[in-house]
Amino acid sequence: MTRPHIVVVGSTMIDMITYAERVPDAGETLIGERFVQGFGGKGANQAVLAARLGAAVTMATCVGIDALGDATVENLRREGIDVDHVTRTDQASSGVAPIWVERDGTNRIICVPGANHEMTQQQARTAVLATPQVDGVVGQLEVPQAVTSAGFRAAKERGAFTVLNPAPAGALDPGLVEVTDWLVPNEAELVELARSLGVSADGTPEHLAVAIARTTGTRVVVTLGSRGAAVCEDGEASVHIAAPTVEAVDTTGAGDAFVGAFAYGLAEGRSATEASRLGCACASASVTRHGTQTSYPTPEEVASLIQ
Ligand code: ATP
Repeated sequence: MTRPHIVVVGSTMIDMITYAERVPDAGETLIGERFVQGFGGKGANQAVLAARLGAAVTMATCVGIDALGDATVENLRREGIDVDHVTRTDQASSGVAPIWVERDGTNRIICVPGANHEMTQQQARTAVLATPQVDGVVGQLEVPQAVTSAGFRAAKERGAFTVLNPAPAGALDPGLVEVTDWLVPNEAELVELARSLGVSADGTPEHLAVAIARTTGTRVVVTLGSRGAAVCEDGEASVHIAAPTVEAVDTTGAGDAFVGAFAYGLAEGRSATEASRLGCACASASVTRHGTQTSYPTPEEVASLIQ
């Protein structure tokens, strides 16, 4: 098998997590208990997981001209990801996700995409066309859909497959669906997709995946949390992939781990069910540890997952 080559067209965010007994009322100032900063953004998470598995990954994204942007680029570089197509803008701050977590675990998140929304269609297209080898292109919905579409159209010109993680949940542009080979939502995103496509949202996720595959003409993999995933390749039936049984302590970023590993698996030449099995193995390993990218299996650990 040759080394998989993947381009991720997507977001980077810095998670800024404040832990406090409770959130303040309007006009009130409280002393918090702890603050943690972490690298996130669905695009970056998926890129990092694929890179840890051994893929050559190119990241197309946009960050601000600020310290957070510097740190984001440095983090991608440290993970061995090609940052030649990361642009910088003075029109917005780097993407951030300030998160407040109360003692009982309740969280409140205000995601500010900032520079992520300054990405251009030309940038996405160039990243895909200029990268020497591309097996697959991966996108999400944290950058404008027209930008993802441009990257996916370029992927089709190069004969590469496309994987869309339709997250955060929302309606899809028909132009983006047209150039999507694989839709990989979680259960909530699947229901939202069904609603926006006018597909009856009744029935099991497995049934819904089949109905959406039939309506869109794409293939669908729905992640099912501790139940694993269901793969629908033909609009007729779906195959269930069980997740390893683990003790979950923090599921943040599990969906992104699945998508990154799934894309790696397809690029390596695995079948969709085998790629999904790899997705479940990596995602389930990630839920046993706290954090997002910090919870992902390291390059040293992935050897046992890749078999
Ligand atoms: P998140 O939003 O928490 O990142 P998600 O909602 O996008 O995740 P899920 O379907 O919950 O995605 O989980 C993705 C994958 O993570 C699953 O397919 C499974 O492999 C793994 N996973 C999640 N939760 C568990 C769990 N409790 N035990 C084992 N594996 C899990």
